[in-house]
Amino acid sequence: MSDIVFFDTTLRDGEQSPGAAMSLADKLRIAQLLAEMGVDVIEAGFPVSSPQQAAAVREIAAALASREVTVCALARAHSADIEAAAAALADGARTRIHTFIATSDIHIAAKFSTPRFGATLAERRASVLRMAADAVRQARTHTDDVEFSAEDAGRADHGFLCDVVCAAVEAGATTINLPDTTGYCTPASYAALFEATRGCCDLSGVTLSTHCHDDLGLAVANTLAGIEAGARQVEVTLNGLGERAGNAALEEVAMALRVRADHYGLAHALDATRLGEASRLVSVVTGFPVAPNKAIVGDNAFAHEAGIHQHGVLKDRHTYEIMRAEDVGASAEQIRLGRHSGRHGLFARLERLGIDVAEDQRDAVYERFTALADKKKEIYDADLTYIADPAATASAETPAYQLIGLQVTTGTAEPPSAEVTLLDSTSGQVRVETAQGHGPVDAVYRAIDAACGRPHQLEQYSIRALTAAADSLGEAVVVVSDGSALAQGRAADSDIVRASAEAYVHALNGLDADDHAEGDFVQQGIMASFGSAPAW
Ligand code: MN
Repeated sequence: MSDIVFFDTTLRDGEQSPGAAMSLADKLRIAQLLAEMGVDVIEAGFPVSSPQQAAAVREIAAALASREVTVCALARAHSADIEAAAAALADGARTRIHTFIATSDIHIAAKFSTPRFGATLAERRASVLRMAADAVRQARTHTDDVEFSAEDAGRADHGFLCDVVCAAVEAGATTINLPDTTGYCTPASYAALFEATRGCCDLSGVTLSTHCHDDLGLAVANTLAGIEAGARQVEVTLNGLGERAGNAALEEVAMALRVRADHYGLAHALDATRLGEASRLVSVVTGFPVAPNKAIVGDNAFAHEAGIHQHGVLKDRHTYEIMRAEDVGASAEQIRLGRHSGRHGLFARLERLGIDVAEDQRDAVYERFTALADKKKEIYDADLTYIADPAATASAETPAYQLIGLQVTTGTAEPPSAEVTLLDSTSGQVRVETAQGHGPVDAVYRAIDAACGRPHQLEQYSIRALTAAADSLGEAVVVVSDGSALAQGRAADSDIVRASAEAYVHALNGLDADDHAEGDFVQQGIMASFGSAPAW
């Protein structure tokens, strides 16, 4: 039995990180993993905000209907929002509607400035109270599990916060969340919110909840302070993903409660051994790297560098370790696989990483592994995540464009130039274009632009090394738009220019896929560089 309700909002608040948009397939994978880990509530999206958000909530609610987990949809305190949330949750089994309204004076002044909400602060606060209660009542007509959030509670007047909380509870809210929406609170001031609220009205049967942002680096500290002050639900995200500086990290809150059970005395049922896998999945899907020194899930979180530390740990690991790497799904042994590791070694390692490869996919995965092992001396866990990515093994429809040749020249004497050979599979034509650019990638992209000739805009480009070696796989993530839709392409290769080219072509193919809806977000690619690509 858990004393703490883990409410994960990676798919809602996390997805609101600039550049962190996720495809529906990725959201489903994350939701499945969260459910397997034992997360209690998954906030799957904000249905009224877009058809894609509504679809994500609908599919996740349906996919998880046979599990213990509750699927939650966000709604402003508006009638249409609540109906959209209820409709999206219709195929779910355990469902929650989460409604919210601004409660700090600064938010009320800015958001409720039209005359219909009143002329004075007191009148506008009265409007907020009424809307909060109406929204909760309406949500209760659809489900018995209704959460109310007092937006920007961290900066709200305590007296008014009391009024709003009591109105929401009176109307039937079963969870009351006090978000520090702007990351303004200190642990003491955040705890004081809960102390103040608990004295306002009868809260028996109501769960109090934290929701902390990391603008001052205090999200986890504030979450724990909220728990000490009586909160029994925590709203968190994997890797601390979220608006601006992010939310409180699920893995950090979970392990703080477990390692310091002596202090908190509160149990939870999360399977922490899946944390490493969950963190990697979110990082791969969003293209946001995890800092090596990130607590719990960073690559260095369990690495001992200083000789004196290494010596101590070899004698007794408790000298410098407060938890074990294997308890959080980090690889205790950084064994590196190479070309001499056979099938058995590869699949045993994948299994320990929590990556399940279906029997009929194993040949393809092993083939990609040997192709990469031929290019690289050592293969790291981060590489394996890519090798085994199911998106890579899924048989893709014939893409509009295929990169069949690439030649790049760069150096100190001449501006970088590129020659690109692109197959347009619609017309069957092969186009060869050359271009110069400010760097090799720019030259390649200009040549690809000339070859495909379709109007589009490059919205985002990033490249990162997956491991710390000169022969590391470079992962390129590219987002392009055509004015109505966005498409993301990803590719990884030990040749970073080639990875960049593949990712760009994948993204363009995403724009060209005619089954995507206006405003849609399409993801393509990833693994074209291993084995399946033409040998050039
Ligand atoms: Mn938030």
